[in-house]
Amino acid sequence: MAIPRPLRALAIVSAFLLFYLLFQAFRTPPTIHGQGDLEHELPNEPTLQEYGEPPPPLWRADGYAADNPDSPRINATLLALVRNEELDGMLVSMRDLERTWNSKFNYPWTFFNDVPFSEDFKRLTQMETKAKCNYELIPKEHWAVPSWINSDLFDESAKMLEEQEVQYGPMVSYHQMCRWNSGMFYKHPALQDVRYYWRVEPKVHFFCDIDYDIFRWMNDHNKTYGFTINLYDAPQTIPTLWPETEKFMAAHPEYLHENNAREWVVDSKRRPEHNIKAHGYSTCHFWSNFEIADMGFWRSKPYEDYFEHLDRAGGFFYERWGDAPVHSIALGLFEDKSKIHWFRDIGYQHIPYFNCPKSPKCRGCVTGRFTDGERFLFKEDCRPNWFKYVGMD
Ligand code: GDP
Ligand code: MN
Repeated sequence: MAIPRPLRALAIVSAFLLFYLLFQAFRTPPTIHGQGDLEHELPNEPTLQEYGEPPPPLWRADGYAADNPDSPRINATLLALVRNEELDGMLVSMRDLERTWNSKFNYPWTFFNDVPFSEDFKRLTQMETKAKCNYELIPKEHWAVPSWINSDLFDESAKMLEEQEVQYGPMVSYHQMCRWNSGMFYKHPALQDVRYYWRVEPKVHFFCDIDYDIFRWMNDHNKTYGFTINLYDAPQTIPTLWPETEKFMAAHPEYLHENNAREWVVDSKRRPEHNIKAHGYSTCHFWSNFEIADMGFWRSKPYEDYFEHLDRAGGFFYERWGDAPVHSIALGLFEDKSKIHWFRDIGYQHIPYFNCPKSPKCRGCVTGRFTDGERFLFKEDCRPNWFKYVGMD
């Protein structure tokens, strides 16, 4: 029996509608806690970096040529904490950074590990660079879980972190890594006479030719810290980090710098839920898998006292405080905000985020793209707040 035409049309339209609805339902990523508050801002995000190249002096290579023995050298190193198993990923990162920058300047690499580096690791990493590579073992007392951490309490907390879907929550070594990066790395004897470092992780990418000596630029411009990406953190990893910071600041009001970036640290306007869950901290932080910094800041009394306070409080283990929020809060409170620099010209990726400038010197990334991951990740960008409270430079 022939189905009447209007009915057939209706059936086809209904089928399409059903298909469309199902497609939408499965396409939209699930909302995760506290991340549904910024949808409306999405369309503006990718335009942030359409500012072109930094001013010309940034791009000069004059006087700094690597092959010129008289060219001034800054006391600095490329620095990587890495596991032997991550050799391939480390080679990827080295290849990019050597090609875009270090082959012109030959700053030494310093690799750190809590176990000895394998011969393969040493041989293959050294083959990626003309510069000297140093392989350093972390002293036991820098890596070990501190004596005041209660292992039963750690196990209990790990379970709670797991329930809250905190990545790496139960993995002790991840906590150790965060603590080491927060307050230990710059105390390693191999870095005793070194001032600046550029932190590099395995499996990251660098996209843009950089023709000036970054460390010299830091030095000449009196910068303490350079970043590429600025993110919100998962508040469930740091519920008491801000309350502990407030206790510390109450005891040491003199450590607050008069030209600080506190407004960026405590912002509650842009993602109020984050601020509420972190009890007063915006959770905005410099993404520390990339860091170019002056270790003088970490070695200063305010930071040392702050780290000591946090370390005693236990949150590196009972919660999952990352080195990124710890570094960032300290910089935002104790440092002159004009000494913190956004390296807009360094094209960078650590999965799933990018810093990709608009410049003819960049290849392999999409200008202005912040992430190639799910759509909900766009709202993790906290750079708009940095620009709002501090500026572009
Ligand atoms: P994520 O970026 O937060 O997902 O964490 P990663 O797994 O990338 O770890 C951060 C950095 O610390 C990377 O450079 C790792 O190679 C390094 N790392 C993490 N855990 C360990 C560890 O137990 N031993 C060593 N030697 N390096 C580690
Ligand atoms: Mn990583």
